[in-house]
Amino acid sequence: MSDPAQVLRTVFGYDSFRGDQQAIVEHVVAGGDALVLMPTGGGKSLCYQIPALARDGVGIVISPLIALMQDQVDALNALGVRAGFLNSTQDPGERQLMESLYVAGELDLLYLAPERLRMESTPRLLERGKISLFAIDEAHCVSQWGHDFRPDYLQLSHLHERWPDIPRIALTATATEATRKEIASRLNLEQARHFVASFDRPNIQYRIVPKNEPKRQLLELLRNEHKGDAGIVYCLSRSSVDKTAEWLTEQGIDALPYHAGLDAQTRATNQARFLREDGLVMVATIAFGMGIDKPDVRFVAHLDLPKSVEGYYQETGRAGRDGLPSTAWLAYGLQDVIQQRKMIDTSEGDDAHRRRLGQHLDAMLALCETVECRRGGLLAYFNETLTERCGNCDTCLTPPESWDGTVAAQKFLSAVFRLDKERRQRFGAGQVIDILLGRKTAKVIQHDHDGLTVFGIGTELNESEWRGVVRQLLAQGLLAVEGDYGTLSLTEASGEVLGRRREVRLRRETAAKPPKAARPAK
Ligand code: ADP
Ligand code: ZN
Repeated sequence: MSDPAQVLRTVFGYDSFRGDQQAIVEHVVAGGDALVLMPTGGGKSLCYQIPALARDGVGIVISPLIALMQDQVDALNALGVRAGFLNSTQDPGERQLMESLYVAGELDLLYLAPERLRMESTPRLLERGKISLFAIDEAHCVSQWGHDFRPDYLQLSHLHERWPDIPRIALTATATEATRKEIASRLNLEQARHFVASFDRPNIQYRIVPKNEPKRQLLELLRNEHKGDAGIVYCLSRSSVDKTAEWLTEQGIDALPYHAGLDAQTRATNQARFLREDGLVMVATIAFGMGIDKPDVRFVAHLDLPKSVEGYYQETGRAGRDGLPSTAWLAYGLQDVIQQRKMIDTSEGDDAHRRRLGQHLDAMLALCETVECRRGGLLAYFNETLTERCGNCDTCLTPPESWDGTVAAQKFLSAVFRLDKERRQRFGAGQVIDILLGRKTAKVIQHDHDGLTVFGIGTELNESEWRGVVRQLLAQGLLAVEGDYGTLSLTEASGEVLGRRREVRLRRETAAKPPKAARPAK
């Protein structure tokens, strides 16, 4: 055994541990089990790499990031660490070499793809060598339903039964209480020591703006604040990824697409370029990003609303791993809400599942519409409290005004009520807004909506302001949207507004200018 602090200096070249690293390393070196929750960039790898070096035997690392194994192992080899991996991308010769190195004890770390856990040959192989610890990276894979690796990860319990005395360290950047409990129970780590780091990423500036002209807004962000910077632009669909990447390229920005519909070769090339070259913008679906260790991603931009706060946190967390100021920027609009509700309504699975998806979306909407500190809201989702406003999010930098939207809400809701009463056909937000603005469109005339008492009663607001009202009514549960056409309907709470028993506070839409205050010093 060698001294962890010395390994940190001589092998990795760092002066000191960060955060909980030292406590975690000492605990595992001493043979204890650990469950580590640490944000992306927090330094999880050292938590198992150093104990593997400090203890006798080979550290077995289970990692789903097969595409990155070669890179990880190369980086370790460059530091003089004897590391190798076993996965399906290798030819039999390479595999045999790794296996014999393991058996001979000539490795410090052996990375295993999750699929190895299901093979009968794996325990037989492991038995022939000496294991120092089991590290379970991306441990949330054991909990997420529908996750590709879940069945493989569940096999981990067999390893533990076979080697009950070998310490295990499970690591994840997924932070919710529910996920943590599930990981602990599935992996039998209830008795393990839990290390929960703060999930705050103070160098990330969070900004959420109303989506008006998304492409132009994005371009402004890239040109005015992130010229020549590397960043990620997330889009919901593959086709919008393609279109956005193409359009950015036409605008003179080095942008590459990434989504599951591209062939493996293109994906690998684009990912490698993004990692190795400077200043590339990756336009991607959320298929891109897990395990990507690029320290200088200066911005993450979302052109569509993430499905949950957790997803938003994970995706924005890919910015600023080097600790330098970075931007998390999200543009969202009414259409996002309608589209996501529709996706939930038509999603597979039972009602309970759909309800859960709905709750995730509601939490995300609440974060978008808040007038409070965004960071405070984000951390509260992970049961962390921020004692004061952060000063580095849009609502802190340019506090939004709120206004009494009760009358506007009443007007809108009564128009929905009138249309609902017709019962023949139900209408979406666009039609209601046209009616309130007194527009005699073909569709208004066709349905005699210009004869309604609510026709033309809402000219004090313009169309985009009305869309903001609708979005916020949806976010506050004062209005519901469903079905393929985004049909609006009233909720129980709408009745309280219509019956004048409830006031409605709305957030004033600000023009989507970047906040004036300076970003924190580097
Ligand atoms: P995570 O897996 O938690 O996202 P990593 O293990 O990839 O994070 O570490 C993130 C970055 O921080 C890496 O570049 C790593 O080398 C660096 N790092 C980790 N621990 C330390 C430390 N104690 N001192 C300096 N740099 C560190
Ligand atoms: Zn703030």
